[in-house]
Parts: sequence; structure tokens; C-alpha cells
Amino acid sequence: MFRTHFHVDIVIDRNDIDRIFEAVRIVEVVEEFVQLKRRGVNFIGCCPFHNERTPSFIVSPAKNIYKCFGCGKAGNAVNFVMEHEQLGYPEALRFLAKKYGIEISEKELTPEERQQSDRRESLMVVSAYAARIFQENLHNTREGMAIGMSYFKERSFREDIIRKFELGYSLEARNAFVQKALKDGYKEEFLVNAGLCINGEKGLFDRFAGRVMFPIHSLSGKVIAFGGRVLKTDKNKHIAKYVNSPESEIYHKSNVLYGIFQAKNSIVRHRKCFLVEGYTDVISMHQAGIENVVASSGTALTTEQIRLIKRFAENVTVLYDGDAAGIKAALRGIDMFLQEGMNVKALLLPDGDDPDSFSRKHSAVALEEYFSHNETDFIRFKAKLLLDDAQGDPIRHASLINEVMHSIAVIPDPIKRAVYLKEAAEMFGMDEQMLAQSADEKRKKLFKEQRRRTEEKPVVEDTRDKEMECAEQEIIRLLIIYGNEKLFDVDEETGTDEVSVAGYLTEELRTDELEPQQPVLRAIFEEYEQQLKASGRVDDKFFILHPNPEVSSVVADLITAKYKLSSIHEHNGIQVKTEMDQLCEIVPVHLLAYKQKKIIRLLEERFISMQKALEAKDLETYDQCYAQYTALTEIKKVIAKNLGNRVLC
Ligand code: ATP
Ligand code: MN
Repeated sequence: MFRTHFHVDIVIDRNDIDRIFEAVRIVEVVEEFVQLKRRGVNFIGCCPFHNERTPSFIVSPAKNIYKCFGCGKAGNAVNFVMEHEQLGYPEALRFLAKKYGIEISEKELTPEERQQSDRRESLMVVSAYAARIFQENLHNTREGMAIGMSYFKERSFREDIIRKFELGYSLEARNAFVQKALKDGYKEEFLVNAGLCINGEKGLFDRFAGRVMFPIHSLSGKVIAFGGRVLKTDKNKHIAKYVNSPESEIYHKSNVLYGIFQAKNSIVRHRKCFLVEGYTDVISMHQAGIENVVASSGTALTTEQIRLIKRFAENVTVLYDGDAAGIKAALRGIDMFLQEGMNVKALLLPDGDDPDSFSRKHSAVALEEYFSHNETDFIRFKAKLLLDDAQGDPIRHASLINEVMHSIAVIPDPIKRAVYLKEAAEMFGMDEQMLAQSADEKRKKLFKEQRRRTEEKPVVEDTRDKEMECAEQEIIRLLIIYGNEKLFDVDEETGTDEVSVAGYLTEELRTDELEPQQPVLRAIFEEYEQQLKASGRVDDKFFILHPNPEVSSVVADLITAKYKLSSIHEHNGIQVKTEMDQLCEIVPVHLLAYKQKKIIRLLEERFISMQKALEAKDLETYDQCYAQYTALTEIKKVIAKNLGNRVLC
């Protein structure tokens, strides 16, 4: 049917894949994760794949593709889900099938097929299985009910909340889980890699034996890791209270926030997110009716986590308990949020309470009221903390102002900075102008440091290679967008037929053996040729909805490349021509430019061979290379002449 040059393990029927592609609407898929606004025929939002303040992420419902003009990521709905959820191809298809209620005829995987399917996917499958077993243990086994469930009840977790967070229980016997999993056909390799069991001296044993289980979900609700809390604290003092899954191919701690899946809708609705410390804080707050809450869970807050929150809301309130460690963590977090351009508030809980205990004591209404009355902006928070500390000591007082200035200096938005400067000036009774100056200086220093850090990195980028790649891309881009267009008319004199862009380009590249070198582009080119031979024309849709995700992504990127117009047309303010009007000029020119780059590369290769031959005193090879070198130089001259002084657009 079709040949792709990549090996893709497709366990889903091709017909089903087609049905999924037919049903999927790119806007609906993206909207689940990114806030989009209509902009003409397209939609626009902040790119979820890189950090940005002004939106450059475009979704085209007409073409069914997305493209970020900031970071260049592009593709169809499947690419989006793969990239965003870090899923394999079949997994992403399944995700979409589920969203659109499409039944797919997937056979129950045999152990051999299981072996074949992609590693990450296997880890997901095994984690989902584990979550299911842990839940079954909790709800349906005598031990689970007696130990796990009674613990949750003691913590006054409600049944619906226990289900919502898919809490579970891992049996006490040291390898109960792994034995069962192996018996059910799951491979040891994946059980170990997913962190569910450990291969020790005495064989495989469960990492979480005898713990209540908190599954950690990806943004789309897949289980990717676990936290397990020990129950018998007294006699096992040396055992850690919480054990977490290790890093794996599907679990990168620094990119994950506990509770984000359950919280994301509420975060968008409230345009705000609460940040707490851990599992039980998130769960208790949900139970009390506050659902826009996530936890960084056991690790220090990372920039990736902040960006994850920022995709859904600009405002964050850091909840912390008043002990020294809590305050320190809150302080550090605040500057990081500010640096990412977020609005951050801090909320100190009454002495001895953490979010978990506090929300268990109060009703939803009381909580909301407490939160809205007691959250303070970061300046007040920092100032108060430090003022309490400074106690009228002038030197400490100065360093406190310095601290606050530092926080202000990292804020990217100048207007926000100005607002906070005003507030700080009032609070400290200082001249606003002077503080502004101090913040500016700090900002400059920050920039300098940043620049120094980036300059230290050596930029080893072969611009030649880049140019070659661009030229190849340009040819394929023209082929895909304009392939079906007419390039040359019938010529009665020479008796030549009408020539399409596709006919011209494929012919030229073939005869001169100039097929693209980049594997994806080459695969696209070859498939294009085949398709052209078979049906006389090739639609861009064929590649946009291509079953190979790498192909669809590259093509989506290419066809959205902003094409520039020849500078001549812009200068004179004459009617601006589109690419389409100028194909008979553009296509041959780009082909020539492409050939020129190829030749330059060949010349370089010959030159190096000549030098090597000289060193080796191999005069025969030298002469051979020299002859080729001069021949190529001649061709190069001809091309240069043909190209003339035409401006490449
Ligand atoms: P206790 O019943 O003794 O209060 P706890 O289960 O509430 O125990 P705390 O020690 O109070 O745990 O921890 C505070 C918060 O941090 C809780 O939400 C907890 O789930 C979370 N937490 C603690 N240790 C870890 C860890 N290693 N990884 C992730 N979250 C953790
Ligand atoms: Mn606690």
C-alpha cells in the first residue's frame, strides 16, 4: 500500500488509524492543554513546548496542524499528543480514539507483541496495571481493607476521593506484586524499569511492599509513577516514611507535578493554582472542595514545573507551613515564579498546621475565606519575614531591602516591576526613584551573568550543514505545497508537454542524483515520487495525515514556513506577488541554489581528498581528485551565472 522508511510498530489497524485521523479536530485536541484564542481563520496561544510570554503557537483548523513560530515544533494532532504527553505513536492514537469515542479493534497483546511494542509504552502499560492491582488490593482484599483502607479512613479520606486519586495498597509480602505481575505476563525488564520492583540478591522484590499507594499521573491522566507511604512507623523507624518511584523513561520528577491531571480544569477556571508540599496536602484540599492545587512532591521546585503551571494560569499561591524549612522553600520558589513572569502570592498557615491538617479542620467556605484574606503578595511576604528577623538592626534592614529588590529585579515585565517598586517604596518608606535604580542595576547584572553563562558554551554549529539542510527543505517544501501546480505550458515549438512543479523537480533531482540527504526528507521525496507515478498528483494532506509521525511533523513544519517575498517587489510598493504567481521563477531558482550548495559540498570533499593524497604522496589519487575538482568548479560557474544576481527569496 505504502512504504515508509521508518520502522513503526503499529498494533492498531490501518483502517482505524484512518478513522481516527478523520474524526480528530486539531483545535479540540490542543485546547485540552493550551488556552487558545481565535485569530482570523486560525487559533493562537502560548506554546506548551517552550517558555514564552507572547503567543506564537498557531493552530490551523483548516489544515489540521499546529505550528509554533517560536520553537518550530509542528505537526498534526497525533504529533501534538505524542510531544505533549510524551507518548509513543500507538499510545497517542489510542488517546485520541478514546477522546473521540472511536472503537479500535486492538487485539489483546500476546507476550511476543508486548515485547515488540515500544519501551515507553510498555512502562506505561505496566504502571497502569500496577495502579489497578494496588486499587484492587485496597478495595477487595482482606489485608488491604484492614490495613490500607483503615489508614485512609483514619486520615478521613472520603471514598470518592480515594477513587478519584486512584489510591491503592501494596500487599505486605515482599514480592506479592511482582509475582502476580509476572504471572499475568508482564516482563521483568519493564517491572524493574518502571521502579515497581527491585532485583536484589535474594531475587525480585517489591519496592512498595506494605505501603499505601499514591499514583502519580501525567497531564493526561496516565499513571507514570507512585509514591508509597509506610504504615507501621513505630518499629520501623529506619524506614523512610515515603518511597517514590525512581526516574524512568516515563517519569522525570522535575517535569511532573502531583495532582496536575485532577487540577488542570480547576486551575484554568480559577485562573490560579495553589502549590503545596505533597500528596496528602493535595488530596485533603480536593476533599475540602479546593481543586486547583498541585504539589512538587518531595523535590525542590523546578523551572519545568513552574512552566507546567503557567500553561494553565498566570497566578500561583504558595502554601507553606511556618517552620524554617517551609519558609526557605517558599522563598526560593517565589523568586523562581517571578522569574518566569508569574504573579505569585504566599500564604502562611497557622502555627503547626500544614495544608493537609488545616483543610481537614475547615469547611470549603471557611478555607476560601481564609486563603483570600491571608495570602500576601511576595513583597509583603518577604518583607514581613525579614523584618521580623531584622528587629531594627539597620544593617540587616538594608540587606532585607536588597533581598526584596532582587525579587523585583527578576520580574520580566517592566510594568509589573514598576508596580512592585512603588509598593516596596511605600513599605520601606524609601524613595521610589532610588529603588528603581537599584532594581535596574541588579537587572543588568543578572543579564550580564546570563550572557556570560551562555557565551561560555561553545557554539559548534556547522553553518554549511545548516545551509544544505535548509536548501533541501526548501525543495521539499515547494514540492509539497505547489507540486500539483503548472510550471511550464505546453511548448509547441519544442514539442514538450505541460510540466508540473512536481514533474519538474522529481525529474531534475533524479537525473542529477540530488535526492535529499536528510533521512526524513529523502523518505518524503521517495514516497512523493511513488505516489506521483501511481496517481498523477499528491495532496499535502497525504503527508499531513501520514501514518509516520516524523513525516507528518516535518511536513506540517515545512508548509507553514513563512515564505518571504522577493525584496524587489516589496521595495517598489508594486502589487505584491505571492509565491504562487512566481512559481516559474522561484522553483528553478531554488533548484539551482540547491544544486549550487551540493556542488560546494562536493568541492570541499574533493579538496580534502586532494590534501590527504598529497600528504600520502599518492599522486594518482591527487590527479583524479584534481580533475573532478576542476570539473565541478566549471559546473559551479555555470550555475552561478544562471543564478546571476537574482535575489533568493
Ligand atoms: P503525618 O501523618 O505524619 O503528618 P504525612 O503523610 O502527612 O505524615 P508529612 O510528613 O506530614 O506526611 O509530609 C507533608 C506532605 O509532604 C504530605 O503531603 C506528604 O504526602 C508529602 N511528602 C512527604 N514526604 C514526601 C516524599 N518523600 N515525596 C513526596 N511527598 C512527600
Ligand atoms: Mn502530615
